[in-house]
Amino acid sequence: MTSMVFIAPLQLSNIDILPDIQQHIVNRLQCDTRYIDLPLDVESVKSPERNQYYSTKLIAQALKLTNEYEGTVLLLVDVDIYIPIFTFLFGEAQLRGKHSIVSLCRLHEEFYTGKSDNKLLFRRAMKEIYHELGHNFGLLHCNNWECVMHSSSAIEEVDLKGDFYCKQCRAAAGIAD
Ligand SMILES: [Zn+2]
Ligand SMILES: [Zn+2]
Repeated sequence: MTSMVFIAPLQLSNIDILPDIQQHIVNRLQCDTRYIDLPLDVESVKSPERNQYYSTKLIAQALKLTNEYEGTVLLLVDVDIYIPIFTFLFGEAQLRGKHSIVSLCRLHEEFYTGKSDNKLLFRRAMKEIYHELGHNFGLLHCNNWECVMHSSSAIEEVDLKGDFYCKQCRAAAGIAD
């Protein structure tokens, strides 16, 4: 677990969602949160061929700037992210590390149906945030579909899995019930 989640929005157009994200983390993880402004060069990690952004490189940039932050650093972006072995990612995290990134790009219902649904966006965003933070807390993927640590490679799987950690994962990560 962590005592503090530093939230770093990077060129995020949906800033309306931030207070709700912050409040949800405070309530569910019983930790503090703080916004930080990290001067990362998002455009520098863009692949012109893929028209996507290499998330591991953004995490690497953040690593250099966050030594003094004690806690977990969560990058939030709107851009479509990838690593070379996958066509896209919802998020990426350092296992038992300090940094994670979540992209809202493919969590928007507009991406699939053209229809906006802010409630659904928020629900999906929290699942992916808890999922990536879970990796920071040392959790691996969980076979339980009720658990937010279940892997999801398509949006249907994000919607299908549970909203929070299962009992076993909570125990393993030291998260209160
Ligand atoms: Zn994962
Ligand atoms: Zn689990």
